[in-house]
Amino acid sequence: MTLHVRLGVPSARTVLVTGGAGFIGSALVRRLVALGRRVVTLDKLTYAAAPAALAAVAGKANYRFVQGDIADRRLVAELLASEGVDTIVHLAAESHVDRSIDGPGAFVETNIVGTYELLQAARGHWEALDGAARSGFRFHHVSTDEVFGDLDLDAGKFTESSAYRPSSPYSASKAASDHLVRAWHHTYGLPVVVTNCTNNYGPFQAPEKLIPLTILKALRGETLPVYGTGANIRDWLHVDDHAAALQAVFERGRVGETYAIGAREEHSNVAMVARICDLLDERLPGRRPRRDLIRFVEDRPGHDRRYAIDPAKIECELGWAPAVGFAEGLASTVDWYIEHGDRWAAQDWSLERIGRV
Ligand code: NAD
Repeated sequence: MTLHVRLGVPSARTVLVTGGAGFIGSALVRRLVALGRRVVTLDKLTYAAAPAALAAVAGKANYRFVQGDIADRRLVAELLASEGVDTIVHLAAESHVDRSIDGPGAFVETNIVGTYELLQAARGHWEALDGAARSGFRFHHVSTDEVFGDLDLDAGKFTESSAYRPSSPYSASKAASDHLVRAWHHTYGLPVVVTNCTNNYGPFQAPEKLIPLTILKALRGETLPVYGTGANIRDWLHVDDHAAALQAVFERGRVGETYAIGAREEHSNVAMVARICDLLDERLPGRRPRRDLIRFVEDRPGHDRRYAIDPAKIECELGWAPAVGFAEGLASTVDWYIEHGDRWAAQDWSLERIGRV
């Protein structure tokens, strides 16, 4: 067998993707399977999972799906050993800020306790390895820019050295998991890499998140809720670019390092919603412009004004850059939801507002 060695790490990896039936995990799984990597997906299939997002890889010889909880240490340990996993890419999480306001307990259970159990299973597996298998092992923790908290409008951007100031139960639970992962590296030597990424958009995103929610409600002719004044700014990256960045980091990133991932595409929520309305009007003209459906609603508690990432480190060190332009990516995303609606989702979404206190 030929191993393609880059920086001493074989690229013919067996990758365990936790949360691989979710929005970002499934994009990574589709990418890796298409590239011929061996991929095992571990996913609990919560309400947020989109099994249809894995239809393209089902039945492939280099792909296996396992339904299970990352907090089930015995299951994970058996899986790591039986599949000979040399890379864990950890995306499984409770991921919706509004839900974390209504019910923070699930976020503590999966994002903190689940990550702890996964780390312990990974540590046991890694400590039993030797030689190249031991030095080549990677635990890649996938996190968010929300751990850095609120960024002033006139401040610069978040970098890998920004201080942690999480605002929501979601971001606090992700921050806790980031700290656990780094502690397992510093204390036990587990070879970890961490990424903190900005907001993603693209196909198969749960219809409770801003972009699919807006598209699907606008297609139904329903009012389009925008929190507060809609001035909150996010940096938007296409999910396929995130998947490419993740692969660059776990294959070529330096052990113990953090890489911040962003697109330099800052847009306010109201500008994003208005843009989606215009794209829909171009494709499916109605009697009135869909911008008329926009309604400003009571703000989300603790709503951060701005997130933005400076991706210079991953660009310079690993040569990654977004390949999907924002205008083209958003237009193709709108087209995808027009074509697929929410028929691909595992449940009927009410698209009603949650997350009020
Ligand atoms: P998602 O909610 O679409 O998917 C999460 C997946 O994890 C689901 O398939 C769910 O079934 C699974 N899961 C949940 N709890 C589990 C458990 N205990 N055991 C096993 N599987 C479980 O989330 P996403 O948007 O794809 O985000 C994936 C990761 O990326 C998360 O860690 C999130 O914090 C991070 N992230 C997301 C964004 C974004 O814009 N969506 C940006 C940066 C970072």
